[in-house]
Amino acid sequence: MDRQQEFVLRTLEERDIRFIRLWFTDVIGTLKSVAIAPAELEQAFSEGIGFDGSAIEGLSRVTESDMLLQPDPSTFQVLPWRSDGEHQGTARMFCDILTPDGQPARSDPRHVLKRALDRAAQHGFTFYTHPEIEFYLFEGPLQRGAEPVPVDYVGYFDNFPGGTTHDFRRSAISVLESMGISVEFSHHEGGPGQNEIDLRYADALTTADNIMTFRTVLKEVAGEMGLFASFMPKPLPGQPGSGMHTHLSLFDGDANAFYEAGAEYQLSTVGRQFIAGILRHAPEITAVTNQFVNSYKRLWAGGEAPNYICWGHNNRSALIRVPMYKPNKAQSVRAEYRALDSSANPYLAFAVLLSAGLRGIEQNYELPDGAEDDVWALTDAERRAMGIEPMPQSLEHAIAIMEDSELVAETLGEGVFDFFLRNKRQEWADYRAQVTPFELQRYLPLL
Ligand code: GLN
Ligand code: MG
Ligand code: MG
Ligand code: MG
Repeated sequence: MDRQQEFVLRTLEERDIRFIRLWFTDVIGTLKSVAIAPAELEQAFSEGIGFDGSAIEGLSRVTESDMLLQPDPSTFQVLPWRSDGEHQGTARMFCDILTPDGQPARSDPRHVLKRALDRAAQHGFTFYTHPEIEFYLFEGPLQRGAEPVPVDYVGYFDNFPGGTTHDFRRSAISVLESMGISVEFSHHEGGPGQNEIDLRYADALTTADNIMTFRTVLKEVAGEMGLFASFMPKPLPGQPGSGMHTHLSLFDGDANAFYEAGAEYQLSTVGRQFIAGILRHAPEITAVTNQFVNSYKRLWAGGEAPNYICWGHNNRSALIRVPMYKPNKAQSVRAEYRALDSSANPYLAFAVLLSAGLRGIEQNYELPDGAEDDVWALTDAERRAMGIEPMPQSLEHAIAIMEDSELVAETLGEGVFDFFLRNKRQEWADYRAQVTPFELQRYLPLL
């Protein structure tokens, strides 16, 4: 037993923890949880705890359904909303998924990211991410199928004294911080009831775990206030969608590999090649970074969501933005990828973004010129003349491009790649079979 495992076992006794939730994520990014008694934990650490993986999205086939969960002791946290001092507490750990013979399961999204991080490590790099997570707050409880009602009608950065969103953000942030998740910024976003909370940058595995925790914490805190928090990419027509702009950087030890003193925007060759890699492979990875039918309603219906493949310095219409350099802050040089939405599986999304960037470095991609114009104000012909291509227009389009991607197949591995595509083709088929209110309203009076 290692020191971290011993620490967890000691803490269980000291804090009178009664339930330990083992957390993991399915291929679509849904958090899964199974509770075990403290007495089971030693075995969970040494051999893993068996479960039936066949009923979990993308995890295993029915014929090979036995899987093991092995908790990662470095992710141990007592859950504040289940441990109020009076009651025996609950704690959680993220798990790695193993096959019965103790090998990493090919279908474990956390493992997919770890594999991509290993590749970065072979180049001497650690991958850091910093997400800006947007979401809507609606009146609760959720009424399935009914139009959601936002909790307020104010907008971007509005300070709404006594407003619900203000109280909500304060409660949610204190819970996050008590779980060791640092929050940098938070504010009201552009849509009614829409908010943003930005997490401090951390290595990508920690960030992905933190995003999964974040979604659960927000839903718990909202529920306690009689509200409903949603990470759906475009819940309200005519209002901005919820993106998860993510700032990306590579570090070589303590040094930011994207920084080069005196270079344009202080951006190093490694940084330029990394951005070039993401730009070139953006269409291939979009089914992963924007994984739902609804994701494309965010991308293609305004609200400042990016949809043309270009980069810019401080240009908010660009897919990738290189933020302004802060003097003497070499570690802050980074690239912000703006397509990602708040419903993505963060493990898979970070894995494909990293792989695309590394490909740019490995193959010395040339970064095209940055776009200084507002790309939305240009005509199609102007954009074409500048070599600026559109992002995939729909989930169907994104899947068709991903199917031919050797980069995505290699990054996700065969199991996840095949399952993901099958799942998404089915989603598209289900969607296409709908007759929508739009069609009835538009066509029935005429046809
Ligand atoms: N909500 C916008 C998006 O979907 C972003 C708005 C902003 O952060 N300025 O990407
Ligand atoms: Mg922001
Ligand atoms: Mg924002
Ligand atoms: Mg941003």
